[in-house]
Amino acid sequence: MVARDGTADERALAAVRELLRRLEVSTGGVIRFETDAARFDPQAAGAPELAAFNAALVLARRFEPRLTLARDREGLDARLKRLEAAMADAVEAATRTRDVLASALAEANFEMPAANRTAIAEYIALAESGAAAMLEAAADRSYLASAVQIAGAYETIAAACESIPRMRSMREFLAATGLRAVPDEAGLSESVSRESAVASLETECELLRVELGPRILTGPPRSLDGLEARFQKFKWTYVQCYLSAHARWCVKMERLELAAGDARRYFDALTRLNAIAALGPPEGEHLGARVAELSARVVRCELKDAIAPETTPRCSSCGFQLGAASPQAELEDAMEGIRRALEIKLAALSHSMIARLIHIHDREHRLEGFLKITQAAQTDALVRVLDEKLARYLAQVLDENETADAGSLGCADFARDGAKKRARGEGMATSANLAPNRFPRGKGNNRG
Ligand SMILES: [Zn+2]
Repeated sequence: MVARDGTADERALAAVRELLRRLEVSTGGVIRFETDAARFDPQAAGAPELAAFNAALVLARRFEPRLTLARDREGLDARLKRLEAAMADAVEAATRTRDVLASALAEANFEMPAANRTAIAEYIALAESGAAAMLEAAADRSYLASAVQIAGAYETIAAACESIPRMRSMREFLAATGLRAVPDEAGLSESVSRESAVASLETECELLRVELGPRILTGPPRSLDGLEARFQKFKWTYVQCYLSAHARWCVKMERLELAAGDARRYFDALTRLNAIAALGPPEGEHLGARVAELSARVVRCELKDAIAPETTPRCSSCGFQLGAASPQAELEDAMEGIRRALEIKLAALSHSMIARLIHIHDREHRLEGFLKITQAAQTDALVRVLDEKLARYLAQVLDENETADAGSLGCADFARDGAKKRARGEGMATSANLAPNRFPRGKGNNRG
């Protein structure tokens, strides 16, 4: 019996137990340790195969951790079968590990480190040798020790390989946020005023992306727990920030959608006026493309608060990215440009000579109200009434009669010069008075 009296030091007892356990393993169960008692087992001693198996159990368990000491022939056969199957599985698993690791590294243009390649190859060779050969070789104690070491080295690599999907899904989340520590030049011009919360999220996102990168697989094996905790913290903060910023963004986009619609309507009216030669050369033509480009950036959100940034980092409806700048200021600029161009056209329309042409040739009297609008310089009203049909009629009245009435007198040029001065805020009187006799004032034209 092992010392069990109460005065025995617990630590000494534990040490003795451990020694006996080792003795049991190394003698192949000939000396057996049961319920704190060491026993000699003649049955076990009778079978050298049993002894070989039990002596190599520490190695066999690297392949099949549930294996226990074999007590008899029958038990040994069953265990050998299980070990054989486990070793075959191990060959498959190690091949898979090697491929997964190599492709994860190749994705990032990294070579598999030579040490890892060797460790995996040695492990595969060990597993391929089969249960019987391995147990036989393990009779040599130094072989046993080195085989255990080979298995250990491989297990470390396999654990790192198992973490690849977790690392990948974390990296994918980070990438899907679209956050970058260095803002893109395009589209983020309002970034100066961005909240510092967003800025620090961007920095942390970038750092985590680097740390969770495949390079981690080329270094010494390390625990991912710390990195995972950091990632979870980042994710939580990101989700809170995104939810509130997205709500604000949705409201803004609804407003900008109206503004973009206005800009398009104003530009359409301008295009119609630009098509009328009598009103001078086209103004602000380039603004159409600008408005189209800015309108494309105004995306109405269909999901609103039904988003789930914890699984889909960016809204799948509007694609809002945390910290993104809206096209509001640029849209306002474009609208301003269109208004200025329209004012030039409006000035041309209200010019005495043009007004006279309208007055004389508007036989259908469709332009009376229009004329009042131009004379009152009401840009908004002009955009409202100037549809395609009216614009065609206006073009007909002006362009067909311009040549007949005043073409030889440089009517278009005259109108344009006056219009530009007006748009610049200069008085119409000067230019209109340049040729008072050439353009006798008609009824209804009190300008000039
Ligand atoms: Zn959205």
